[in-house]
Amino acid sequence: MSKFGHGGRIPRPKPLPEVRGDKRPPGAIPPSARKPAIMQEPVLVLNATFEPINVTAVRRAMVLMIKGVAQAEEVNHTHVHSASRALPVPSVIRLLAYRHIPQQTRALSRKNILLRDRNTCQFCSRTLPASELTLDHVVPRSRGGRSSWENLVACCYQCNNSKGDRTPEEAGIALTRRPRPFTLHTSRRLMRLIGNKDEKWRKYLFY
Ligand SMILES: [Zn+2]
Repeated sequence: MSKFGHGGRIPRPKPLPEVRGDKRPPGAIPPSARKPAIMQEPVLVLNATFEPINVTAVRRAMVLMIKGVAQAEEVNHTHVHSASRALPVPSVIRLLAYRHIPQQTRALSRKNILLRDRNTCQFCSRTLPASELTLDHVVPRSRGGRSSWENLVACCYQCNNSKGDRTPEEAGIALTRRPRPFTLHTSRRLMRLIGNKDEKWRKYLFY
């Protein structure tokens, strides 16, 4: 499994060290003026071959840049600071070494199921914050249902409670669509949806 790619995790970055007042380069944005929200903005990750492979947050993207693992291909106007320099906030980064990304190996995790189902209850179609969603075994575990891509869906607590330990047929509710594994195709579709917000992603995603 790739250290960074589908399903992989990169270590949680340490906060960037702050530059002391008089050492701050001219024109720099003082740390106090930085909006922490910017560090959570989505960044498109390209493989060394420019193939889009993932979406990460600014904070992680900048750690990869500082480590020399990736370089910025598109940047925003804002800068943030490491100990020694001002870094532009990336919008698109590219890995410097090619990573092999297996086709269907996204980790089966709550996060990825919610991502696949776009935080939408697969029974009542309501889109909710992750904290208001749970995972539902379509065929309950007590009935031999497996924990798999095909049997786990995002589900609101209301639907989950009313369904209880029954199959959708028994509970008289229906899935809005058949759950599928999270393939690179699914990822691309999601990246395009996110990318609609950022013009700079377009040339890498719409080909
Ligand atoms: Zn629901």
